[in-house]
Amino acid sequence: MATTRIADAPMKVAQISKPGADFEIVERAIPRPGTGQVRIRVQACGICHSDVLTKEGMWPGIQYPRVPGHEVVGLIDELGEHVSEWKTGQRVGVGWHGGQDGTCLSCRRGDFRNCRNLKIPGISYDGGYQQYMVAPVEALAAIPESLAAAEAAPLLCAGLTTFNALRHNGALPGDLVAVQGVGGLGHLGIQYANKFGYKVAAIGRDSENAALAIKLGASVYIDSNATNPAEELQKLGGAQEILATAPSSKAMSNLVDGLAPNGKLIVIGATFDPIEVTPIQLITGSRAIQGWSTGTPADSEDTLRFSELTGVRPMIETYPLGKAADAYARMMSGDAKFRVVLTM
Ligand SMILES: [Zn+2]
Ligand SMILES: [Zn+2]
Repeated sequence: MATTRIADAPMKVAQISKPGADFEIVERAIPRPGTGQVRIRVQACGICHSDVLTKEGMWPGIQYPRVPGHEVVGLIDELGEHVSEWKTGQRVGVGWHGGQDGTCLSCRRGDFRNCRNLKIPGISYDGGYQQYMVAPVEALAAIPESLAAAEAAPLLCAGLTTFNALRHNGALPGDLVAVQGVGGLGHLGIQYANKFGYKVAAIGRDSENAALAIKLGASVYIDSNATNPAEELQKLGGAQEILATAPSSKAMSNLVDGLAPNGKLIVIGATFDPIEVTPIQLITGSRAIQGWSTGTPADSEDTLRFSELTGVRPMIETYPLGKAADAYARMMSGDAKFRVVLTM
């Protein structure tokens, strides 16, 4: 990537100075975009659980201080050299996909989502917890006018991941699709699954979110504490897809038997614990377990356009940039309803 030139005027940034450190609000010079880059005046940035990778130094090779944030919405306010497809004043978003190398085997096969040297905003370079951000053009997604910045931001990671995982895994309109977890990812997954024309079963750990899940588009709510969720899914004919959003490997393991023949458990809730499954469970009915990771900026545009068309929106709590530490703590508490978003 080209080097970043520095202008003189200051801006506010929420940075992490070393692994495990607290957020600090500092002033920095507003950066200038290099060749093939744009500068974005940030309007909103969602706080994703994956920001813990930067906060705690859990991703190899992060250079500190680092500004987290990969759910970024803002206006382009300066173009670097050799940028012709984008205009100043245009509203854009930047998600997890912060740029591909274009040369690895995955890229040569056109599979940019799985680039071996994928750049990630907030990890590979400074992300959206700041007033101005520089991003390469291959990370940019255009944002429809009708979406508010704070509502569009979570769609760039949480929205995109659930949208893309659901649309690429074989369920057809009318099929039973289960969404495990009614949280930051799940409350979006339920809405997309409903709008895709699936019969949606939402699975939660208690009855607290039952009414909300139905309101978001679930036909059925399954309380996994009160019942055996796999048996409940089989009573409904078995699920063609189960989108596992809550980061609990034990809960995911308990769902495999709820799959229909040729059904797929799609894992997007990130955890380091093993999922337990026997070969017999998979062989019976030719069932599968697959992970799924976000998507490209073009996929983000599909997600945003679909959300604009169908009214899918995240439920958000907003905090000003200066309260980044409180906002991050709120996300980590698991009590937020449901995505926390910084506004600049
Ligand atoms: Zn994320
Ligand atoms: Zn690549």
